[in-house]
Amino acid sequence: MSRNALEAEENAGDMDAVSTANTSEVAAEHFEVLIVGAGISGIAGAYHLTHQCSDFSFVVLESKDTFGGTWVTHRYPGIRSDSDLYTFGYRFKPWISAPIATAAEILKYMGEVIEENSLARHIRYRHLITSASWSSGDNRWTIEATKLDTGESARFTANFLWMCQGYYRHSEGYTPPWRGIERFKGRIVHPQQWPEDLDYAGKRLIVIGSGATAATLIPAIAKDCSHVIMLQRSPTFFRTGRNAIEIADELRKLQVEEAWIHEIVRRKILYEQSVFTQRSFTEPEEVKQELLAGVRAYLGPDYPIDRDFTPSYRPWRQRIAFVPDGDFLQAIATGKVSVVTDEIENFTETGIELKSGELLEADLIVTATGFNLNVLGDIDFTIDGEPLGFSDTVTYRGMMFTGIPNMVWVFGYFRASWTLRADLVADFVCRLLTHMKLTGARRVTVQLRPEDKDMPLLPWIDPENFNPGYMIRGMHLLPKRGAKPEWQHTQDYWSEKDEFPTIDLAGPEFRLCLITRVVRRRRSGTSLHQLRGLDLSVW
Ligand SMILES: Cc1cc2nc3c(=O)[nH]c(=O)nc-3n(C[C@H](O)[C@H](O)[C@H](O)COP(=O)(O)OP(=O)(O)OC[C@H]3O[C@@H](n4cnc5c(N)ncnc54)[C@H](O)[C@@H]3O)c2cc1C
Repeated sequence: MSRNALEAEENAGDMDAVSTANTSEVAAEHFEVLIVGAGISGIAGAYHLTHQCSDFSFVVLESKDTFGGTWVTHRYPGIRSDSDLYTFGYRFKPWISAPIATAAEILKYMGEVIEENSLARHIRYRHLITSASWSSGDNRWTIEATKLDTGESARFTANFLWMCQGYYRHSEGYTPPWRGIERFKGRIVHPQQWPEDLDYAGKRLIVIGSGATAATLIPAIAKDCSHVIMLQRSPTFFRTGRNAIEIADELRKLQVEEAWIHEIVRRKILYEQSVFTQRSFTEPEEVKQELLAGVRAYLGPDYPIDRDFTPSYRPWRQRIAFVPDGDFLQAIATGKVSVVTDEIENFTETGIELKSGELLEADLIVTATGFNLNVLGDIDFTIDGEPLGFSDTVTYRGMMFTGIPNMVWVFGYFRASWTLRADLVADFVCRLLTHMKLTGARRVTVQLRPEDKDMPLLPWIDPENFNPGYMIRGMHLLPKRGAKPEWQHTQDYWSEKDEFPTIDLAGPEFRLCLITRVVRRRRSGTSLHQLRGLDLSVW
């Protein structure tokens, strides 16, 4: 074994080391934890590591040239959150403005978190991770990245991989393969790649889609366009309400500390959301009628709500977009925006021909048709030289996966703010890392227990429960879910917030490998092969 390789191996036995080792032609920098992505989840990870695991070395690798992920990628007019920032914001940093926030406000908030906690020194921008290889011999990941500014390769090794890469491909949104799309003479734009120079003033627009993106974009551009048609295949549920939280404003008047206001408002929102979510299962018809009444209040009794705003699915099977102050509906009420519910037959040179035979004319078409699911950041994963079959794994609580050592993935909530889960998962990771350090464990994998042997394995998410298009399209790429709550992403913040802190890390679903003994025995002359054969029996 070469001296450098030996050094690298010795360093592997020292969890605290931040080292540089020449594994081959590219020098590898070693960190105990490597976070993929500097979006809201990756920054949560960095914050919690510095506060709960302050003696761990870590790095955040991000392909973009700044933090923010989703809130940098999406630059279309009006871009904003559709959940409130009291819960989409972190639990540790008070949100002090109106609940629905623009991308710019979210980025400012994240920038403050980075600044106030000196996180910038841990983040490497313009680093696109291309591969991650796990070696059971070394109990570490080797991560290959490309520095996007110079084109150089960079190599990192890490004991633990914290996947905060989000769930969709940032480089390109999803556009269905419509017939004749190439015939259209005007411009076709996906909101995920909104061109800075796009001139829509005085133009006739068709916005295809009826999700949160369409409902956000349309009120922001309608006043400048000649006319906007929102073309939807089927209707979506919307929730309306003021972009204000009364109790927060009251408490501010009383000069209550912002940290208290944050916590009180979070609890209130979470309580109300839990009641609403429960009701959408137990009394879907009442919830549906309430949502429709909210829409009718803006569009009036004569509007064909049944045709354009009454989905065939029950509430919460898809994310329900919040429309602050009904702005999207107000734009329809002014006559500047019309809604067409029909299917596309063909694109023509001047617009779209519908299945009904109707022709829609446009100068510009916006395809607000969603995302391409991207499960692991387009990173090639191998485990001991074998390509990872991610869809063959079974998920442990939607964050770990059978057969993938030392890796956690942050996949947030759809019925509650994503960040609630980023904070919860971060607490779990920090507890796991601390436990591993204290017990000398170098590797952790999850495994099905004997009692799980006959458990049915199902697709990642139950389409009857939640079925957005990108999930259904990409389901075959996602890990399996078991029939028990611990073997699935339950999408239930209200139970996970109590269950996660009590997860027993010594439970039979965790295999912890106490590799420190390997190092000791190796130093005493036993061969690596023999030791691996022993597997140290301390799983
Ligand atoms: C327009 C829009 C509005 C939304 N609004 C809400 C909302 O109001 N509430 C809510 O709960 N959710 C919302 N969501 C969902 C939203 O994506 C998440 O809530 C959240 O922002 C995801 O954060 P993240 O950090 O997990 O992932 P992302 O924001 O996707 O960030 C992932 C980061 O990882 C980086 N990355 C990925 N792969 C690699 C790689 N191979 N190498 C290096 N870096 C990599 C990316 O560049 C990116 O910066 C919205 C989504 C969209 C698209």
